[in-house]
Amino acid sequence: MQAPGSTLPALLGRIAGAASRAGSQVRLLAVSKGQPTGAIRALASAGQRAFGENYLQEALAKMDALAALALEWHFIGRLQSNKCRDVAARFAWVQSVDRPALVPLLAGARPAGMKPLNVLLQVNVEREAGKGGCAPDAVAQLAAAVAAEPRLRLRGLMAIPAPADLEQRRAAFAAVRRVFEELRERYDVDTLSMGMSEDFELAISEGATLVRIGTALFGPRT
Ligand SMILES: *Cc1c(COP(=O)(O)O)cnc(C)c1O
Repeated sequence: MQAPGSTLPALLGRIAGAASRAGSQVRLLAVSKGQPTGAIRALASAGQRAFGENYLQEALAKMDALAALALEWHFIGRLQSNKCRDVAARFAWVQSVDRPALVPLLAGARPAGMKPLNVLLQVNVEREAGKGGCAPDAVAQLAAAVAAEPRLRLRGLMAIPAPADLEQRRAAFAAVRRVFEELRERYDVDTLSMGMSEDFELAISEGATLVRIGTALFGPRT
């Protein structure tokens, strides 16, 4: 595996190609869970600013070590209520809000001196049991709860479709896109986070504006 900084230009080229075919603009979130701070540093010096982490303690340690770089951190892991305080105090974005009980906890813990916390609602269009994400018909209520909080800023949706065959995955991405279009009729939202190392080009062709990529950028996780 090459150094992460060296895989970035080729990956950005593939993202830009897919985005231009789709007629959209797409950002890269570098998913750094299980990767050492040195690898994050290498990517940051190659120009990458946005990083995603799943596990709170691991993320906080990296944020402390890399504070001087002023990176944009996204929390993308399962969100329990006891994590809301640190997520709201330390991250720029949280992508995994999937139930109303989390909303006042995040809003109440967002420090007054910081910009509002950017929020994506995680939606589970396949209604897989045991997985994070709300059902599509729960999105409207959750969106209203977030939009009512001045310390939170509703930005859109996040989804992690099941690893199925390509046609099923395409259908899942398209279903998320439809929920996003409905949300956009009511709110000023701009971010559809879907697509990972194995399927980001497919996700972009179905409307993703933010792709979350770990392995294809850093190599295998430790
Ligand atoms: C780990 C993870 C990713 C990145 O997965 P890769 O297959 O390594 O690109 C993206 N999104 C979420 C929510 C993840 O947990």
